[in-house]
Amino acid sequence: MTTSNAANPYKRKETFVYEFGGPIGALLTIIALPPFILALTYFASIGQISLDPADIYASSYSHHLPTFLKCFMGLLAWFLFQVILERFLPCELVQGAEIPNGRRLTYRINGHLAFWITILIVLCSFPVMEDGRIQFTAAPLHLLYDYYGDLALAAIAWCSILSVYLYIKSFSSDILAKGGDSGVAIYDFYMGRELNPRLGSFDWKEFCELRPGLIGWAVLNMAFVVVQKEKLGYVSGSMILVNVFQGLYVWDALYQERAILTTMDITTDGFGFMLVFGDMAWVPFTYSLQARYLVDYDPNLGIYALMGIVLTNCIGYSIFRGANSQKDAFRRNPDGEDVKHLQFLQTKRGTKLLTSGYWGMARKINYTGDWIMGLSWCMLCGLQSVVPYFYAIYFCVLLIHRSARDDHMCQIKYGKDWEEYKKTVPYKFIPGII
Ligand code: NDP
Repeated sequence: MTTSNAANPYKRKETFVYEFGGPIGALLTIIALPPFILALTYFASIGQISLDPADIYASSYSHHLPTFLKCFMGLLAWFLFQVILERFLPCELVQGAEIPNGRRLTYRINGHLAFWITILIVLCSFPVMEDGRIQFTAAPLHLLYDYYGDLALAAIAWCSILSVYLYIKSFSSDILAKGGDSGVAIYDFYMGRELNPRLGSFDWKEFCELRPGLIGWAVLNMAFVVVQKEKLGYVSGSMILVNVFQGLYVWDALYQERAILTTMDITTDGFGFMLVFGDMAWVPFTYSLQARYLVDYDPNLGIYALMGIVLTNCIGYSIFRGANSQKDAFRRNPDGEDVKHLQFLQTKRGTKLLTSGYWGMARKINYTGDWIMGLSWCMLCGLQSVVPYFYAIYFCVLLIHRSARDDHMCQIKYGKDWEEYKKTVPYKFIPGII
C-alpha cells in the first residue's frame, strides 16, 4: 500500500511505503492487542485455550476498580523505580549510531547494574512497614501471581497513556522516524513518529526497550517460583530451568546493553504504540506465560527430557550469542584478535558484511539461535497444552517478518552489494535448507 508522503522531511516527493498492513493493519492491531494479551494471561491460568468471550471476560482480571487502581499505582512505582536506577546508578556514557541530523546521541549504559540491584532488592531488601517501622524483607512476590491479569491490564493502560503522550510530543520534534511519518495519524501513532523521544537526557525508547518490561519479566518468573513452592511444597525442574533460561536471556540483553544502540529498533523505528506495547505489555505478560502455566500445570518431566531441553537451549544460546557477538566485535574492530580471520564483503556504503563464520552459514543465523532457545522454554511445559507454545509460534512469525523488513532495508542501503552478499551467503535461517 502506498501514498504520497509530503509530510516526511526526509522523503519529500517520494512514495511512502506502508508496513504492517498500513493504517487498517495498525488500527486492527491497536484494537486487538489488549484483549489478546488478557486472553493469553487467562489461558495460561486455566492451562488451555477457551474461545468463550464471557469466560475470558469473567476470569482474566478482577473487574474491581480499586484493585485495578492499586495495580496501576504499583506498576507506575515499578516504572519510576527503574527510572531512578537509570538516572542515579553509575553509568558508562556511550554514543549511539548517527541520527538523521548527523549527530550522535549519548546513552547512559547501566542496565546490567540496575538488573542486579533490582534482583537483590526483590529477594532480600524490599522495604515494608511493620509496627510503624520500615523493615527489609523479600518482596511479596505472590501478589504478582494473584494479580497477574490485573497487572497486565494496568500495563495496557500505562502503555496507552504513554503512546498518546509520545505521539503528541512528536509534533515538537524535527527528528522523525521515516517509517512513522506517513501523515496518517493512526498509522503514525502505531509506528511511532519521533525517532528518539527524550526528556532532557532521558531516552524513553532505550530505557523502555530494556528495563521495566524485560526486568519485569524476570521478576514475574521469580514470583511464579515462590507460588509454586507454596502450592506444591517444592519447585519443579521445569520451573527452575525456565527461570534460569529466561533469566539468562534477560541478563544477557542487559549485560550487552550497548549492542542495542545499533539495532533496528533504536536506529530506524520510531517510538510509538508498537514498541511501547511490545516492550512493556507484550514482553512481560506473554513471555512469562510458561512460568505462569507451570505453577498450576507442571508436567513433571523426567531427567532425560530435562537434559534434552538443556542441550537444546545451550545450542540455541551459543548460536544466538556467538553470531551477535561476532558481528558486534567485527563491526567495532575488524582487526580484533577474534575476528580478523573472517572473510567479508567490502560495500560501497563503507561498511563490511561478514561472509564467513556464523554469518557465512546463514544471513539470519542469530534469529535461528534465538528461536531454538525460545522453543526449549516452551518444551519445559510438556505437550499437554498449546498455550505455552504460543511464544515459539509467535516468535517464528515475528522473526520471519522482521528478517523480511531488514532484508528490504538492506536492499535499499546496499543496492547491488546486497545482491552480491545474498549470492555469497544464499541461506537465510538454516544452512543448506532455508
Ligand atoms: P541483526 O542483529 O541481524 O541486525 C541486522 C543488521 O545487521 C542489518 O540491518 C545490517 O545493518 C547488519 N548486518 C546484516 N548482515 C550482516 C553481516 N553479514 N555482517 C555484518 N553486518 C550485517 O538484527 P536485529 O537487530 O533484528 O536482532 C538482534 C538480535 O535480537 C537477534 O538475535 C534477534 O533474534 C533478537 N531479537 C529478539 C526479539 C525478542 O522479542 N526476543 C525481537 C527482535 C530481535 P548495517 O549493515 O547497516 O549495520
